[in-house]
Amino acid sequence: MNCQALIEKFLYDYHAGTLSTGKKLEFELHLTLCRACRRYVDSYKKTIKLAKEGEVPPEAGGEPPAELVEAILAVSRRKREAGGDQRAGSAAPS
Ligand SMILES: [Zn+2]
Repeated sequence: MNCQALIEKFLYDYHAGTLSTGKKLEFELHLTLCRACRRYVDSYKKTIKLAKEGEVPPEAGGEPPAELVEAILAVSRRKREAGGDQRAGSAAPS
């Protein structure tokens, strides 16, 4: 499995915390060995955080790859449709 396939397969569930222990270990092991994926996951987390805060990912200095932005938009769309995240968590005023 190449890096992109791994990321696409596991990243959403990993971030959502729904990945099974075995898969999570597999994913984390890959992250320790693969700097490219680590950076990818890192920018994914950052972008998710910014998206939650209602901000656009920073373009200066970072320039997230278009495919990453696409993936994140798809994820938040999926989340919204699933309705899983609504009203849950912190009391963030909207
Ligand atoms: Zn990798």
